Amino acid sequence: MTINENFLKLKAGYLFPEIARRVNNWTEANPDKTGDLIRCGIGDVTEPLPQAVRDAMKTAVDEQGVAETFHGYGPEQGYGFLRDAIIENQFAGLNISADEVFVSDGSKCDTGNILDIFGPGNKIAITDPVYPVYVDTNVMAGNTGEADENGAYDGLVYLPCTADNQFTPAIPEEKVDLIYLCYPNNPTGTTATKEQLQAWVDYAKENGSIILFDAAYEAFIQDPAIPHSIFEIEGAHDCAIEFRSFSKNGGFTGVRCGYTVIPKSLTVTSSTGEEVSLHALWNRRQSTKFNGASYPVQRGAAAVFSPEGKAQVSALIEHYMGNAALLLKTCQEIGLKTFGGENAPYVWVQCPEGVDSWGMFDKMLEEAQVVITPGSGFGAAGEGYFRISSFNTRENVEEVCRRLTALA
Ligand SMILES: *Cc1c(COP(=O)(O)O)cnc(C)c1O
Repeated sequence: MTINENFLKLKAGYLFPEIARRVNNWTEANPDKTGDLIRCGIGDVTEPLPQAVRDAMKTAVDEQGVAETFHGYGPEQGYGFLRDAIIENQFAGLNISADEVFVSDGSKCDTGNILDIFGPGNKIAITDPVYPVYVDTNVMAGNTGEADENGAYDGLVYLPCTADNQFTPAIPEEKVDLIYLCYPNNPTGTTATKEQLQAWVDYAKENGSIILFDAAYEAFIQDPAIPHSIFEIEGAHDCAIEFRSFSKNGGFTGVRCGYTVIPKSLTVTSSTGEEVSLHALWNRRQSTKFNGASYPVQRGAAAVFSPEGKAQVSALIEHYMGNAALLLKTCQEIGLKTFGGENAPYVWVQCPEGVDSWGMFDKMLEEAQVVITPGSGFGAAGEGYFRISSFNTRENVEEVCRRLTALA
């Protein structure tokens, strides 16, 4: 009997459990102040599901109650009505077709599961700070060695993103096989220009690397010059996979729907010299291990692209970006250096001189009763920063701003 001992390499003190532990300790010690607590930590949405989505889901549930309109197992890649709507609304003019879209129950799973189609021994590059899923799934897959005392895993190529390089990771000097890029970025809220992404695509094509592009936050982009998709970049169809989600734009974090785009032109040479299609491998993987997102959920997701759905999603984005603008303004007014927050729902803040990430977390919890996320929890280069999420009600954000001002 053996187990996958790669799991034993995972760091026990994972970020969100440690936040929960500190918050619990504090609430136990301060039962009278617990009601004041405002959470700006975990990246979950707070506003309800759009009306158009709920209506579509209710209709779909009723269809399931009638033999003539009942839907059993659906197509493993997702229903045509949703894949067509995705192409029409998100990839028009980008030379992506509906059969290159794989609908799923969310992009966290897809960004992790994608490793099923890659073999052992690949060199993996990740930005630092980073969405922890990319790291932990590679640890589980055996693509790393052990972690050091800072939580950095042997075998991974870390690309530091700090104020010194404007949060733009340097293109690696060495050859890497897989590169995870997330834009707009979680946790830093920063974006990549067309030129920066072009440099990555050029690197990938030169080195035979694959870019795993996570665009979960593309709907928050306000600046028309910033690309929403890696497939806006010349050459990306030969070297990139893109992950998208309905979680943050449509408020689907509890409903669950996302999708992965793999161009058919994307191939990798096998050890025997055969050109193998990653699209074909992923199709095989999904049809074996996954049976599709539910019919009512896919109807709800398609409703995001209806005229009413689009208007309601725009209002949600406007709400969260309004929150981000308030948080940015307040942090700047009290003399804190801020990044992100203009094309993403996250504001990335430099800690005041002499305070580290967890120090800032404790200070905000104890003195302002506000839960933020310490930057160091996303990687060693996140030390000295903290993340404030704008996923909140306007009242809560206004109160957070008042408390930040009082704290200064
Ligand atoms: C929220 C988020 C996702 C989306 O995850 P789902 O599983 O679709 O809810 C993907 N990537 C990043 C970086 C995220 O923050």
